[in-house]
Amino acid sequence: MKIGFVSLGCPKNQLDTEVMLHEVLQAGYEITPEDIDADVIIVNTCAFIESAKKEAIENILDVAWLKKNRHLKAIIVTGCLAERYGEEIFQELPEVDAVLGVGSIHNIVEAIEAVTTKKKKGSKVKYFSHEDKNTVRLGGDRVLTTPEYTAYLKIAEGCDNRCAYCAIPAIRGNFRSRPMEDLIAEAKQLESLGVKELVVVAQDITRYGLDLYGKYALAELLRKLTDATSISWVRLLYCYPDKITDELIAEMRDNPRILKYIDLPLQHISDHMLTAMNRHGDGAMIREVLSKLRREIPEIVIRTTFIVGFPGETEQDFEELCEFVKAQRFDHAGVFPYSREEDTPAYDFPDQIDEQIKQDRMDLLMRMQMEINEDLNREKIGKTVDVICEDYDPVAEVHFGRSAADAPEIDGKVYFRAEQRIAPGSFVRVKVRRVVDYDLYGNLVTK
Ligand code: SF4
Repeated sequence: MKIGFVSLGCPKNQLDTEVMLHEVLQAGYEITPEDIDADVIIVNTCAFIESAKKEAIENILDVAWLKKNRHLKAIIVTGCLAERYGEEIFQELPEVDAVLGVGSIHNIVEAIEAVTTKKKKGSKVKYFSHEDKNTVRLGGDRVLTTPEYTAYLKIAEGCDNRCAYCAIPAIRGNFRSRPMEDLIAEAKQLESLGVKELVVVAQDITRYGLDLYGKYALAELLRKLTDATSISWVRLLYCYPDKITDELIAEMRDNPRILKYIDLPLQHISDHMLTAMNRHGDGAMIREVLSKLRREIPEIVIRTTFIVGFPGETEQDFEELCEFVKAQRFDHAGVFPYSREEDTPAYDFPDQIDEQIKQDRMDLLMRMQMEINEDLNREKIGKTVDVICEDYDPVAEVHFGRSAADAPEIDGKVYFRAEQRIAPGSFVRVKVRRVVDYDLYGNLVTK
């Protein structure tokens, strides 16, 4: 029996796909990359905002076509859409045979057996761990879906921050740290698979340890991860500003294998908006954290995200945000229009902002950020940057990769020429010659 996977959403969801891939292979099923050859397709969905839900439904309908017109026997929906809407999915999408909540990824083989064995016509299969979503087993062996030299490490599940616009706590449950020994064992296993870059993720990695060890333990975890492995690059994504401890900053500064890179979603800067969003900390705290990071780690690369058009956002709030972005000159910044999500506090907030105004504010801020990116990149011309080679483009006859300042899938690329072929996963040094938008172009210096 051939099983196909469609994996949507964030790296945290991608890791659930990797765990399910491992369980399915362990059970003796064959994995097929071609949906058209599959007997069963698992669509691992995202559903935290409207556009993600739309993408999930479109993918399910694409797969449903195969069920009508090819030999696909069953469709299983997992991930956040399944968790958020449960059995409603059967009414809205009758082609779906089974739904599994986010806490039930370890039941994937049972679900495949249930939907492929003789069953009463139209009977549906569901697996949820509603009752103990906050205690389900986290992690598990994985089949990597990233290139062999880079991998994500999910150090916790769920979130306790309760931002007013966010459905994730309701979907993924309370914040639960994974035991340090499990994470170190997983990192060692990933290293044995050839991983050279470890990207640390969770909804909020800076909260790591508070539930399990009664203290912020991210710095300690990073120390133990780099003591236990010789993985070259450890990258931090999804940090929360009010939990950037001095210990964490010192570990990032002093530990050569922790990249001087931090992803720090701020969402806004005006106190009026931060309060309305139920974000922890105010504008002054955020500015203090940023200046401390830059004082202690002058070469630090900061990525962030902002939400514009949150209910009640005034022209003044938005102007303050624009001034802040202009002054801070972030290395990378994503801007998103507020998405009104049911079952979140902000859904019922007054003063919802017109969609066109949201769009205009997003476009303006993104244009500003684009100019900042080009300026910052232009300052790299003539400099030499460390790069992890990703691959070679035979058409353009160039290699491409990412510098230490570029996270996988979300930041820029470095394109470089080299006399000899460089293997993917190799670390090289590239002298920057020119810049195009977010990408750098240069020549190989040394291997
Ligand atoms: S930190 Fe806020 S935005 Fe991020 S997952 Fe938690 S509640 Fe959602």
